Amino acid sequence: MRESELIAEICKHNAELAACGGAEVLVPPGDDMALVKLAGRRVLVAADQVIAGRHFALGTAMDLVARKALARNISDIAAMAGVPACAVATVALPASMPDHEVRALSDGLRAAALMFQCPVVGGDIGTHAAADGALVVSVSVLAEPGPTGRVVTRSGARVGDLLCVTGTLGDGWHPNGSGRHLSFTPRVAEALALVEALGDRLHAMIDISDGLARDAGHLAIASDVAVRIDAVQLPCADGAGWQAAVSTGEDYELAFACSGEPPASVAGTPVTVVGRFQESGGARVAVRVGTEEHDVSALGWEHGQ
Ligand SMILES: [Mg+2]
Repeated sequence: MRESELIAEICKHNAELAACGGAEVLVPPGDDMALVKLAGRRVLVAADQVIAGRHFALGTAMDLVARKALARNISDIAAMAGVPACAVATVALPASMPDHEVRALSDGLRAAALMFQCPVVGGDIGTHAAADGALVVSVSVLAEPGPTGRVVTRSGARVGDLLCVTGTLGDGWHPNGSGRHLSFTPRVAEALALVEALGDRLHAMIDISDGLARDAGHLAIASDVAVRIDAVQLPCADGAGWQAAVSTGEDYELAFACSGEPPASVAGTPVTVVGRFQESGGARVAVRVGTEEHDVSALGWEHGQ
């Protein structure tokens, strides 16, 4: 089953959450994080994992694996315009993993926690019964809304809004497993600066983990609109063409919908207008290249494939 199909199945039961008791669910499954109300305070919560051979190549240094495991969760916090609070981590170790690698993983998590100001406050360590079981690092994060109290979801993009991105696109993941996905800095400061600069003109936001085509599609679907990207506007990373810029996963930049022009940069990171939201009907996500229009709704990185 594809990741997107499973998530759609899970979201069918969102209405049941209100009847479960416990926390009041303000943003249910289907966004970058859930938003719940606990003891009168709104708290963001999410979990994400990295699996050897899927999210990092075998042979990747353990400090980079640990950094990515935490950083991709922090990127989801940025997508909601939240501020990291703390994390817990679980690790499934291959039985054959040497002690020095286990230590490097642990040290790497601690270093990443310091770097991203998100302490790892607990978790669990297990070992596969099989010697060749894949290393899995799963992290859950808690976060709070930023100083303005604003939480930005995927829904809210309107017809006529601009689609904008931070940074550059297309070099997140190289076929040999290298790329920015191992070293990116989540755009937490940029997201908070966007909320500050745009206020109510910021309508929806997501982080680009599956490629711009797929993630702009997530904004469009959640907002019941369509979106057209202009290839010539894309801030392509060195060596990347428009196809890579819209389909390479793991850029971990922000994509957002706003009315009116965005600032040229936020927190030192460039912002680029790459498209416009329009009436739904026809392709959900299209890229205009010269006089041609390509339907790219199905492009992008599906982690569950
Ligand atoms: Mg995300």
